[in-house]
Amino acid sequence: MPPAASRGAQSPPPPVVELTFGASLQGRPLSGTRIGVGPRKLFVVANTHGGPEANTYQLALALQEYFRLNPDEVPPEVSLYIVPTVNPDGLALGTRFNSRGVDLNRNMDTNFDDCPENDWRTTVEGAYGYVSDTGGPFVESEPESQVVRDMVLDASAVIWLHSSGGDVFPALCEHAASIALAQAYAQASGYRYDRFWINYNITGGMHDWAGALGIASITPELATGTEPELAANLAAVQAVLANYERLLPAPSTTIEAASGVEMPALLWRYWRAHGGPDWFGPPISPVVQSNGRATIYFAEQHLVLTPEGADALQPVQRADGGQELWTEYLLHAPESAYQLR
Ligand SMILES: [Zn+2]
Repeated sequence: MPPAASRGAQSPPPPVVELTFGASLQGRPLSGTRIGVGPRKLFVVANTHGGPEANTYQLALALQEYFRLNPDEVPPEVSLYIVPTVNPDGLALGTRFNSRGVDLNRNMDTNFDDCPENDWRTTVEGAYGYVSDTGGPFVESEPESQVVRDMVLDASAVIWLHSSGGDVFPALCEHAASIALAQAYAQASGYRYDRFWINYNITGGMHDWAGALGIASITPELATGTEPELAANLAAVQAVLANYERLLPAPSTTIEAASGVEMPALLWRYWRAHGGPDWFGPPISPVVQSNGRATIYFAEQHLVLTPEGADALQPVQRADGGQELWTEYLLHAPESAYQLR
């Protein structure tokens, strides 16, 4: 750990903040704890599968308690977010699904990575390989999925806790940062490293969705369906924190968009995660920097990255008007007012 010493004797401990990200279909909060304010955001997200995986909820509560008491273990460069359940209705009702029977780990838009086999569909394979129509009527149809989508959009890494398999696997599509994180987590926890979930094919999974956005993304499957297994997972989270420079990718400033226009990574992620060219149209402008805000115009809409950037819960704002506003802008702004990044 590089905690208090590297922070200096006078520095206060990292702040601990309780957050609510949104609500479930039945109105229960999706909430969590943030420890620290560093730019590399590590999320621990538990209990996507409700009642049958309640031990991941218990684990996350125990991790929350531990890091509230030991915030100095979070390095200054890192923010640690712990979200005990993203399926509070399923937890309350004792079901794997949300309150209208959708498997939240089959509901994400996984269609934009290079792996067709994990693409979202309604008919899915689930626990024990059972096939059912629980993928939802369309991608991210569920309020819980939509909260997850915006909650981790600017994360460096996400650890999605499930049970039970006794292994750890990264996003299915080749992604070096996810693989490195899964291997490190496996080594420190004692769980087996698997390149992918070997029991059946997962479509629309949160880990694959996040990996496709460039987020280091792994799924540890606890060894049992009953115990929180705190020691193993605390050791693994501590190992990730201690090796954050290698395992938690720093927020990148630019990324190449599909059309060849470069834009801040967070704008690109938002555009991609909220429908990409189908919804916004292609980018039609360079990034415009104005008043500390980065704006990019798409054919149908435009997106603005707010000055608060990575520390805001909603760092990207979106509004109607693309082509016409960009044309208007060009009429009134000298060329020196905007710049390619
Ligand atoms: Zn699960």
